[in-house]
Amino acid sequence: MSIAENLAEVRSTIPEGVELVAVSKFHPVEALQQAYAAGQRVFGESRVQELQTKFPAMPDDVRWHFIGHLQTNKVKPLIGRVSLIESVDSERLLRCIDEHSARAGVVTRVLMQVHVAREETKFGFLPDELVDFFRSGGVETLRATHICGVMGMASNTDDLERVRADFRAIADTRRRILDLFAPGELRGFDTVSMGMSHDYRIALEEGSTMVRIGTAIFGERE
Ligand SMILES: *Cc1c(COP(=O)(O)O)cnc(C)c1O
Repeated sequence: MSIAENLAEVRSTIPEGVELVAVSKFHPVEALQQAYAAGQRVFGESRVQELQTKFPAMPDDVRWHFIGHLQTNKVKPLIGRVSLIESVDSERLLRCIDEHSARAGVVTRVLMQVHVAREETKFGFLPDELVDFFRSGGVETLRATHICGVMGMASNTDDLERVRADFRAIADTRRRILDLFAPGELRGFDTVSMGMSHDYRIALEEGSTMVRIGTAIFGERE
């Protein structure tokens, strides 16, 4: 099947209002162009260097999401270019993004990465840590960063109940944070980014508003 056909198939399974991020990491620009021609505008990349190469090769109306582990010394080239940094996994990184954004005179949109999976990545805040960060006023000091919600991954396992429980824990973390604030006080904290090619259907059932899908659109990565 072509990329356009894959995209159409994936789109047909995603409800209206859920954002589809086409994860194009490790795929050549030609693959992104095919997806673009089929109407896709949001692309996810996990490496700064790769994004810097693809950025000028794609039309201006592409919205880039950064989805990988980000080192503070690589933040600067992303500022003003990416539409969303989905993978803020430490307070230090958040402060660094805020600093660079303030200096550049832009507001950077981010998601906070929640770590619930058993194995997989070690990156992200534990749910309690993230709630504590919000409870202790961590967001009030931000000058040029808008936290739009949370992102996370489920355990990489065949145990679908485990996967479901992980997704539920990610969505619950957002709800616990919202509950700390008066209604309307924490504005635009709406996004729950969870679900990849093999597990996004379960993620949608557990309240995902943004799915990050690579393999099901572009095929296997090299
Ligand atoms: C690679 C990646 C994806 C996409 O994974 P697929 O299995 O190819 O759909 C989603 N999220 C993150 C954080 C990734 O690194």
